[in-house]
Amino acid sequence: MFKDQDALSRIVDKALRVLTLGGQSSYMTKYVTTIGSTIYVPADWNTRGDVERYATLRHEAVHLRQFRRYTLPGMGLAYLLPILPLGLAIGRARLEWEAYAETIRVNAELHGMRAVYDPHFRKYIVEQFTGPAYGWMWPFPRMVHRWIDEVVTEIENH
Ligand SMILES: [Zn+2]
Repeated sequence: MFKDQDALSRIVDKALRVLTLGGQSSYMTKYVTTIGSTIYVPADWNTRGDVERYATLRHEAVHLRQFRRYTLPGMGLAYLLPILPLGLAIGRARLEWEAYAETIRVNAELHGMRAVYDPHFRKYIVEQFTGPAYGWMWPFPRMVHRWIDEVVTEIENH
């Protein structure tokens, strides 16, 4: 489903802009979002490369499984409520971490360990957790670095 053709996506976009004081302003144009059993994509989705789209879908597939496991209301509550909706969202951080761990694994598969060791790649992931993109869901960069280290070690030892 294309976000720009979807009323719910436009509402989410406006809410995110307000709640993050403009910090998350690329919900419609950059981010892919899974809600229930639907994956919502930005307008440029079909122009993105196959490799990039495959990697994105591996991340979203984790969310599809989570929605099946926890149901839509369960995911909604876990994603939005604990501990705070903004600034300290451990439910959202745990659910996103499961998906970003898959992002790291798929990048290792597609581009090799060099891509995973790239500091820009690491910085990008840390910023998803500590910055406005997901409402500052887990503002503890050292902890996110440690989570990344664990997955990288797991891949190295595989
Ligand atoms: Zn995600």
